[in-house]
Amino acid sequence: MTEVVLTETFAAAKSRLAAALSAAGRAPQAAELLAVSKTKPAAMIREAHGLGQRQFGENYLQEALDKQSELADLDDITWHFIGPLQSNKTRQVAEHFDWVHSVDREKIARRLAEQRPADLPPLNVCLQVNISDEPSKSGVTLEALEPLAETVLSLPGIRLRGLMAIPAPSDGLDEQRAPFARLREALEALKARFPDAELDTLSMGMSDDLEAAVAEGATLLRLGTALFGARQSAAT
Ligand SMILES: *Cc1c(COP(=O)(O)O)cnc(C)c1O
Repeated sequence: MTEVVLTETFAAAKSRLAAALSAAGRAPQAAELLAVSKTKPAAMIREAHGLGQRQFGENYLQEALDKQSELADLDDITWHFIGPLQSNKTRQVAEHFDWVHSVDREKIARRLAEQRPADLPPLNVCLQVNISDEPSKSGVTLEALEPLAETVLSLPGIRLRGLMAIPAPSDGLDEQRAPFARLREALEALKARFPDAELDTLSMGMSDDLEAAVAEGATLLRLGTALFGARQSAAT
């Protein structure tokens, strides 16, 4: 196995992001990297933190909680839960994360809102949209998005920040841009409908489609493989 040198992978990913932002005519700070550390050890997160990375994304609750307790001394990390979320896991997510990107139904939103501890700031939430309309995939449909957003905006304890999607894989910049364009348009429609909401986040783009996502306005790029190397398991 080739060893991943984080100073190199982080520098490479940052210059990819900078080049994509510049090509899109966007400001250098208009988007940032969310380091997806699932299946990777706490020591790698600590090393990435040493390089200045502060936003980390995790998919599996127990694994994330274990790493958070190992890294409790790093109190300036922003933790994002980005994996599928079942109702029996909402309490711990509400207690231990700063963001959730995978809210796709009212029941989950209501539980997170009720279970967010009162002494913590509101939990930042993105609604996950099934942007490629794949029958088996999680995510709210575009048709059901606005009513869900309206409900989430009415709940205390959580703060709707934007949208997240994982498009079906495709090759070629134009093919990759199409679903990201739909997500951007969906966020623009929500902003028009709810002008007072703080809808500033498009969580889209991963290691293989960063450029396409940035071209369509991504603000948070969820990068795993490009930063930490390939994952061992079949977990995605
Ligand atoms: C694993 C994962 C990523 C990172 O994917 P890479 O292709 O490794 O960059 C991003 N978002 C979600 C929701 C993931 O589960």
